[in-house]
Amino acid sequence: MNIILFGPPGAGKGTQAQFIVQKYNYFQLSMGDLLRDEVKTKTSLGAKIEKLISNGKFASDEIVNSLLKQCLNNLKFRDRIIFDGYPRNIEQAKNLKILLGGFDQTISHIIFLNVSKDIIKKRIMGRMTCDKCNMTLNEFFNKEQIELHPCGKEFLKKRKDDNLDVVLARYETYMKTTKPVLDFYSKNANFTEIDGAAEIEQITNKINAVLNV
Ligand code: AMP
Repeated sequence: MNIILFGPPGAGKGTQAQFIVQKYNYFQLSMGDLLRDEVKTKTSLGAKIEKLISNGKFASDEIVNSLLKQCLNNLKFRDRIIFDGYPRNIEQAKNLKILLGGFDQTISHIIFLNVSKDIIKKRIMGRMTCDKCNMTLNEFFNKEQIELHPCGKEFLKKRKDDNLDVVLARYETYMKTTKPVLDFYSKNANFTEIDGAAEIEQITNKINAVLNV
């Protein structure tokens, strides 16, 4: 079973993907994480990606598709991938279908986390991610959990692209380029919309209900 978690930046895709990984032993294919890993390699490609991400722009389809292929080639992840942040435009959506078909795989569920722009701003501006365990917390809403974080709170870092200007640019790109993918998917029988403004646990329960059918 492969799953697409779909929604605007800050919808909670990464947070919910972590729960699915833990409960069902799945692999989270976060395109943003894969791109940030490339940035860490300090190659010329990494530098190019860093510039794009820090301006809220997309990496080219060529780059993301090659990262995607590397994951699909890994048999460990076969039929247990959560796509988080991919596809983000119609071309990527079409390409995903073709690539998965080539590996004799399909998408079982498309889950859309629907959240308003105001909530997104609050969530992203406070977002902190652990460098060690990848857990995401919010500096405004999770003060106690940050103090008690098992890896140590010094590992919780803010992302460079989580500042207001870039957040607004990313939201605009989502509305213009990514939302058409939603219209493309929403006609499918395996598409489910969930209120992404609900409590984290409520959203997790709804996702579990969808996956356990
Ligand atoms: P995320 O971690 O999903 O918020 O993604 C962070 C940034 O990585 C985005 O703002 C884009 O610059 C880039 N990115 C992530 N996924 C994709 C994708 N599928 N296609 C192009 N660029 C992407």
